[in-house]
Amino acid sequence: MIVTKNLKKAFGNHMVLKGIDETIHKGEKVVIIGPSGSGKSTFLRCLNLLEEPTEGEVWFEGKKINDKNININQIRQKMGMVFQQFNLFPHLTVLENITLAPVKLGIMSKDEAKDKAIELLKKIGLTQKADSYPNQLSGGQKQRIAIIRALAMNPSVMLFDEPTSALDPEMVGEVLDLMVSLAEEGMTMVVVTHEMSFAKKVATRVLFMDEGEIVEQNSPDELFANPKHPRLKEFLSKVL
Ligand code: ADP
Ligand code: MG
Repeated sequence: MIVTKNLKKAFGNHMVLKGIDETIHKGEKVVIIGPSGSGKSTFLRCLNLLEEPTEGEVWFEGKKINDKNININQIRQKMGMVFQQFNLFPHLTVLENITLAPVKLGIMSKDEAKDKAIELLKKIGLTQKADSYPNQLSGGQKQRIAIIRALAMNPSVMLFDEPTSALDPEMVGEVLDLMVSLAEEGMTMVVVTHEMSFAKKVATRVLFMDEGEIVEQNSPDELFANPKHPRLKEFLSKVL
């Protein structure tokens, strides 16, 4: 579904991604871990070209997407993204937040988008919040709305960048539960997170990034029980 070939990203002289070759298959749940500043967010943002690669290729569903002839907005519709900061539009209601993009981009009629939004709100038990504004929601509710807003576009992959890092501890669980159910439904997911329990439970593969490289990768069982690289061992000794 996603392939990167020799993917490099530099900010000025600072080489943040140093040539990443990686393949993410349909249905996989890939969790990315690694120290702060190692390039996890930049990698994720290069996958849907929120950052433009300095060098190398990004392929999505059989197309090279860092190419002038590609309509990147069309590609992004298929790649849902959820950020640490929920990024809901503060001046729009929950329902408007969810229906805005599908209607504006002409993917659904207003009624279709509304039906879809209500169905998704039902799924997370928040139909009663349809007409509320983001500032009337808890952090956990906001992030769950941000997730279903991305799902309303019927994406074929979901990218998550530390979706629980900005939440109060008591709200982490409800967001992770939603992500687990999404995984169980078969969604292809790439998740940057420090929640090792989520990685152990859900990941088909864990990638450890350090200094702009994927230093080690394995199944969660193997990676957590038998880390090989010294930098991974050191990282795990701090977070586990
Ligand atoms: P992580 O998500 O693993 O914490 P990031 O991908 O956010 O790491 O950042 C990797 C490195 O790239 C850091 O040194 C960061 O300061 C730098 N960086 C990220 N975004 C930018 C930017 N827009 N401009 C300059 N430097 C950046
Ligand atoms: Mg980051």
